[in-house]
Amino acid sequence: AVTAAKITRAHAANDATRVPTRVPARRERFDTLVVGAGFAGAVLAERLAADAGQRVLVVDRRDHIAGNAYDHHDAAGVLVHRYGPHIFHTNSQMVVDYLSRFTAWRPYEHRVLARVGDQLLPVPINRTTLNELYGLGLSTDAEAEAFLAARAEPVAEIRTSEDVVVSSVGRELYETFFRGYTRKQWGLDPSELDRSVTARVPTRTDTDDRYFLDRFQAMPAGGYTAMFARMLDHPNITVRTGVDYRDVRERVEVGHTVFTGPVDEFFDHRFGKLPYRCLDFRHETHERETFQPVAVVNYPGEDVAFTRITEYKHLTGQSHPKTSVSYEFPSDQGDPYYPVPRDENQALYRRYEALARATPDVSFVGRLATYRYYNMDQVVAQALATYRRMCERAPMAGAV
Ligand code: FAD
Ligand code: UDP
Repeated sequence: AVTAAKITRAHAANDATRVPTRVPARRERFDTLVVGAGFAGAVLAERLAADAGQRVLVVDRRDHIAGNAYDHHDAAGVLVHRYGPHIFHTNSQMVVDYLSRFTAWRPYEHRVLARVGDQLLPVPINRTTLNELYGLGLSTDAEAEAFLAARAEPVAEIRTSEDVVVSSVGRELYETFFRGYTRKQWGLDPSELDRSVTARVPTRTDTDDRYFLDRFQAMPAGGYTAMFARMLDHPNITVRTGVDYRDVRERVEVGHTVFTGPVDEFFDHRFGKLPYRCLDFRHETHERETFQPVAVVNYPGEDVAFTRITEYKHLTGQSHPKTSVSYEFPSDQGDPYYPVPRDENQALYRRYEALARATPDVSFVGRLATYRYYNMDQVVAQALATYRRMCERAPMAGAV
């Protein structure tokens, strides 16, 4: 078992060997400074405080906790996600068990439709999609498989996001559902993006129209922000929102820092900027009970600039005479939301990663700090694994 004493001792030792004379006595002391109150930061703050007994300061430059998962009641009283639809899904029982300490769950299985001409068709592409788009009567998996096989274009080596789709469904379906959406979402052609991006949405030959197939799919019953508030509600945790790392780092004395912001920013863009894709959200409230038949409708056509419309009441189950929706407009400017998976970016990230490794008094965790296109559950798992590694290292460091 890891004790607070072990971790705190390790940090004390680090402090002693670093720059003790430059530390003014009046600076506030914490064992750990956590930068970012999203999943990565909140999980580590909770573990360090509640399990290791550390004093933790959490700062976030936004005016709220919960990072990109932040939800709140808008002016009309509808519970919305400020940064786009967040649907929790995972195959990790460990992650479910951990988060279930802070929230109850509302069962929810996500279904998405794509607007193609005047049709609304299921995405990922499944047998129903094919039947409705082409007016077919494919009635078995084998028939749908044969239909797709006749269209699929063989690709020698599947490297890009174009290869993944064209090699499984052919060029026409690729152009209908993927090319325009991807060009809008990433500002790049699918041929310029790693295969992992469109591989997130694999084609099916059955009629299962769920977006995710994970064993556990649910929404936090009271919303994400309430779950985060419970995680951070500990006497050892101090939370300050509207505070940037740059403003606080000289003012506090800490043994360790957990950084969950963009890794290139931490190192002052020393090797150049890592590309992160941004989004502008247009939130609207409508004077009617429902706006669209499902929570998310994708717009793969390049005739509109947005990629999807989300209607939040489908996700939250809230009853309300009005309804609120958001449109997503991808852009190069603004807050970083997505790392952009392609070889040259990964190569640049590797250089930052080497710097991060050479900075042992800072742990880099989460989607922006490790430049990985992670879902929420993957970030929780990564943060829990980071905590375990910190615990393993602490007794050794403390013994030095
Ligand atoms: P974040 O949530 O981004 O938290 C990082 C925090 O650090 C931010 O609040 C930021 O303000 C703060 N910060 C950064 N730099 C500084 C600094 N210098 N000083 C102070 N604070 C700083 N995942 C799913 O599992 N299911 C979904 O349906 C899903 N939908 C998504 C939809 C959209 C539109 C987006 C963008 C993401 C979606 N995700 C989804 C992914 C999910 O948002 C992330 O996996 C998760 O939020 C990442 O958590 P994080 O803590 O790494 O980062
Ligand atoms: N995608 C697409 N058309 C769709 C849905 C997804 O082209 O109708 C591609 C697009 O490149 C997108 C990627 O698949 O960025 C991953 O989709 P996902 O829904 O997982 O994206 P996220 O929810 O992370 O934005």
